[in-house]
Amino acid sequence: METMPTPTKTDLFQPGKVVTDWGRIKRAKVESIAQPKSEEDLRTIVEHARKNNLKISVRGVGHNAVGQTFLENGIMVDMMALNQIIELDENKKTLRVQCGATWEQVTKVLEPKRLGVSTKQEFDVFSIGGSLAANVHGKSIDYPAIISHVLSFRILTADGEILNVSREEHPDLFRAAIGGWGLLGIIVDVTLQLVDDRVVEKSEVVYMSSPARS
Ligand SMILES: Cc1cc2nc3c(=O)[nH]c(=O)nc-3n(C[C@H](O)[C@H](O)[C@H](O)COP(=O)(O)OP(=O)(O)OC[C@H]3O[C@@H](n4cnc5c(N)ncnc54)[C@H](O)[C@@H]3O)c2cc1C
Repeated sequence: METMPTPTKTDLFQPGKVVTDWGRIKRAKVESIAQPKSEEDLRTIVEHARKNNLKISVRGVGHNAVGQTFLENGIMVDMMALNQIIELDENKKTLRVQCGATWEQVTKVLEPKRLGVSTKQEFDVFSIGGSLAANVHGKSIDYPAIISHVLSFRILTADGEILNVSREEHPDLFRAAIGGWGLLGIIVDVTLQLVDDRVVEKSEVVYMSSPARS
């Protein structure tokens, strides 16, 4: 079968190379690295992969540990340019954001409004998409994993279709894609329920061991 030539937009597909991740345990030579800047680019990538029988993997910041963002001879989709804050509704305390954004970007927008996300990792470097795909937990014992504060998201499936997903629409996909490590499609953007910012005090309890009994 004749393969489709790589689209001429050189800024969309960069040549493949050996890649690794934060853990540096695995590495692979990817066929190409795609850097979408729009939803149209995302659809082009999926169509190109389908026509050429290529597999796709998705990458945020690449801080996973064991190679979940790349495949030998696959297309690695680098999401970092799809990083817009789409809508902040201060009354409803909701945020809609593209998945290539990082918590650092989100925090800069939310902090002056005294709003925050209930659950995220301790550090701000991670992408929103990578955080959803891992269904991350934070340090707070008051809040469960991030899925509990996801209202809805949009996901690009292997068919090239973008679906609106929530607890009411495609509920199975809602539960599977959050924590699904990018295996069910590319999460394009998400709407998160926010909470009021609050001061958190750090405290430590030190337990002294009893002297050894003779
Ligand atoms: C120092 C350190 C501290 C950490 N602390 C915590 C912590 O406190 N709590 C916790 O839960 N985890 C923690 N982690 C794990 C981390 O949250 C996850 O590895 C997270 O996925 C990293 O985000 P990333 O943007 O680097 O994602 P990547 O490493 O780029 O991707 C991770 C996964 O998400 C998928 N993915 C990325 N973007 C999308 C998208 N748009 N759509 C669909 N799938 C996508 C990828 O395919 C891959 O499977 C920590 C990791 C490190 C290195």
